[in-house]
Amino acid sequence: MAVAIVGGGPAGLMAAEVLASAGVQVDVYDAMPSVGRKFLLAGKGGLNLTHSEAPEAFGARYGARREVIDSMLREFGGPELRAWAQGLGVSTFVGSSGRVFPLDLKAAPLLRAWLHRLRGLGVRFHQRHRCVGWAVDERGDSANVLAFDSPRGAITVQADAVLLALGGASWSRLGSDGAWVPWLAARGADVASLRPSNCGFDVAHADAAGLMQPGWSEHLRSRHAGAPVKNVALRCAGPGGREFEQAGEFVITEGGVEGSLVYAASSTLRDALAQQGHAHALIDLLPARSAEWVLRELMHPRGSRSLATHLKSRLGIDGVKAALLHELAPREVMADARQLATAIKSLPLHVSAPRPIDEAISTAGGVRFEALDDGLMIKLLPGVFCAGEMLDWEAPTGGYLLTACFASGVRAARGVLGLIGQTPVAH
Ligand SMILES: Cc1cc2nc3c(=O)[nH]c(=O)nc-3n(C[C@H](O)[C@H](O)[C@H](O)COP(=O)(O)OP(=O)(O)OC[C@H]3O[C@@H](n4cnc5c(N)ncnc54)[C@H](O)[C@@H]3O)c2cc1C
Repeated sequence: MAVAIVGGGPAGLMAAEVLASAGVQVDVYDAMPSVGRKFLLAGKGGLNLTHSEAPEAFGARYGARREVIDSMLREFGGPELRAWAQGLGVSTFVGSSGRVFPLDLKAAPLLRAWLHRLRGLGVRFHQRHRCVGWAVDERGDSANVLAFDSPRGAITVQADAVLLALGGASWSRLGSDGAWVPWLAARGADVASLRPSNCGFDVAHADAAGLMQPGWSEHLRSRHAGAPVKNVALRCAGPGGREFEQAGEFVITEGGVEGSLVYAASSTLRDALAQQGHAHALIDLLPARSAEWVLRELMHPRGSRSLATHLKSRLGIDGVKAALLHELAPREVMADARQLATAIKSLPLHVSAPRPIDEAISTAGGVRFEALDDGLMIKLLPGVFCAGEMLDWEAPTGGYLLTACFASGVRAARGVLGLIGQTPVAH
């Protein structure tokens, strides 16, 4: 029994481990010169492996796909992931936000130990093998015969089962480029279009004449691009009555916004843009203060002091927050205490487009679960399984992305074992 896994990211490698542990011969093919490149990148900013929150709240992070992802997390969720890392000699800790990280925050030691274990289990790695779709064998049967561009030229690979873990379509230079969509869709697999998730946005602002202009004013861009906007809250609404409201921080970019709070709001903003062609978020510059407090402070006599000094001394609004207020609130609003108080608590930020998918942290869309059986096999393509970010789910950052990739790798591998009548080894 031989299984070909295409894609050596977290999902494909976890599937390889489950299969090889059950005694299956596993060959992992990857387009890149080494596997796990995005996983290593994730480790650059501190590898957020999973989250410590209770299953109920954890599952809710997967929105419309909650039920199906929940069922996978019950088999291999956060606690199992932490135990697995521990088994590789990597202890984890829970950060103040509840996020779970390796003690040294890095991905490289974990990946190194993992690959060592996989090689020990007999997994064979074939780097620089880019799958370009299906090939046809001598019987004219093609579901499990894949075509690859390899250092040896064009080759075909036949396996008893194929497990695709090709990732989404962001950071294509690390290998996941979404090029699989047309060849999988051509075989009848139902694929929802790939869209940026956990992404930044371009913005628009009104100029002095009140006309909307792309990006920021030259003044704001030149002085504040790259600046973090801390201790704020964002509110926005999406299709179907979806509401988003969260406190946190974001970053001003050359022509828009990015950072954790914007990523958290990104699916709501992206879907609102797709449906209406325009969208806006309301920024609360002082989420810890009530509207009444803000108005009271604004109404406080300021004598000969400038508005800027008043905002700074009485409300603590200065720097990039003051610049945003001037950028986004019309002149007449700035001149009226009541309107200004409202603006400080709900400053409208117009977003014009999500940043390109290649810049996103993750990808929404992919192979729809309705096209898959419980073991993540494509119903129309018996013997072909899918796992990881190439499936149609999305989640915020916080460890939820990797957890679902690992969990779906386990589920798909067990699906393969079910197909070939083997039982998984306890994992
Ligand atoms: C900057 C950044 C930071 C992140 N930080 C975190 C974090 O801290 N926590 C978290 O939970 N998530 C994080 N993520 C998301 C997480 O890394 C991904 O969700 C995860 O790597 C997806 O795993 P995967 O196995 O599905 O796909 P990938 O990791 O993308 O792996 C897919 C593999 O398939 C290969 N491949 C693609 N097409 C082909 C082909 N045609 N032929 C052969 N091989 C192919 C690719 O080379 C790649 O190796 C981060 C992402 C980014 C971009």
